[in-house]
Amino acid sequence: MKFTQFADKFSGQAGINSLMDDLGKALSGDQPMIMMGGGNPGHLEPVQTRLREELAAIAADPQAFQRLVGIYDAPQGEARFISALKDLLNATYGWGLTEANIALTNGSQAAFFILFNLFAGQLPDGSRRQILLPLAPEYLGYADAGLDADTFRSVKPVIETLGDHSFKYRVDFDQLQLDEQVGAICVSRPTNPTGNVLTDEEVQRLHGLACQWDIPLILDGAYGSPFPELIYTEIHPFWDEQVVLCLSLSKLGLPAARTGIVIARPEIIQALSGANAILNLATGSFGPQLMEPLVRSGEILSLSREQVRPWYQAKMHKAVALLQQELADHCPWMLHQPEGAMFLWLWFPGLPITSHELYLRLKARGVLVVSGHYFFPGMPDDGRWRHRHECLRVTYSQDDELVAKGLQILAEEVKRAFTSA
Ligand code: PLP
Repeated sequence: MKFTQFADKFSGQAGINSLMDDLGKALSGDQPMIMMGGGNPGHLEPVQTRLREELAAIAADPQAFQRLVGIYDAPQGEARFISALKDLLNATYGWGLTEANIALTNGSQAAFFILFNLFAGQLPDGSRRQILLPLAPEYLGYADAGLDADTFRSVKPVIETLGDHSFKYRVDFDQLQLDEQVGAICVSRPTNPTGNVLTDEEVQRLHGLACQWDIPLILDGAYGSPFPELIYTEIHPFWDEQVVLCLSLSKLGLPAARTGIVIARPEIIQALSGANAILNLATGSFGPQLMEPLVRSGEILSLSREQVRPWYQAKMHKAVALLQQELADHCPWMLHQPEGAMFLWLWFPGLPITSHELYLRLKARGVLVVSGHYFFPGMPDDGRWRHRHECLRVTYSQDDELVAKGLQILAEEVKRAFTSA
């Protein structure tokens, strides 16, 4: 049997495939695992209660139930949800959206696949375009979402030290070279894996570059505003026609409902809808229909701000306090300022082993984290930047006691790695 290059792409062991495989195998093994590796949201009771209520209301209403399971939506997505979201975003931010500015996808991951291939690859005139990731580390899930091998190029950050054990990545605008080959700029805000939140000024400067080169600025708000609002700094959400804003219902607590949302100028929405039709006929109705009443009433905002964000923020503070206590000044360690999302990004300057080896040692002790070296899409490893092998991503969304136990084991292994070197 002969497969195409397209098939090679999906059966390859690169990036997210091997990581997901490894996580899956670790889970199905005999040893109980403390899961601090994936991006699965926690199971937050107030959200689950509201979802159960809405589901019961749909199940009790024959017409609503028929819409839920018995009708293909238009390729753009569930019309009532789109209309309610347009009203909510206009009322909240004054963006002046119409329905033609919004499309839904089966999870925002699917949206990125479509968007990257809309703007990177071969143009009709034969020239080639890439996606510029202005700040690596960046979301691993982008890495294999371009059909071309060289879909991405990314830029090292400026590393700003903020305290003895605290730092922040900033976009290195001096190194950010745009040219005719850049088809779009993309950045996650908050960033997976670091919990960084780009400042308004950084976003405005990126936006300025996008306008100058007339390319889209893709802002990935999977953890951002207005929902699930996992942002612990003061920033202002931003959209205009140069921006493609991607949102998701996943991190609010509905990852299984696979609902991604794209807000963009109408021609991008039309292209996305066309891709939806070809790939899926229609997007799933479950997430949009379940959440539509909460979008229409604005409850999705209060739920995010008053329940979801404080819940994650409290978990973050607990995890940070524990790390400070366990690692103290026993070894070199730096924590990226945790400004959002559900991750801690740890950097161990001078770590005598690679972060991958550290990951393996932790896995052997029943703690799953993710080695930081995965998070540099678009930046081939020339072996000269040790930093990319000195970091770990730790998820704190799961049960507090398990997170505490996992962090204790992590601290032990890091200290051992330094002392036995
Ligand atoms: N963007 C970022 C930064 C993510 O971390 C994720 C998932 O972990 C996604 C997008 C995709 O999420 P979904 O497809 O569930 O919307």
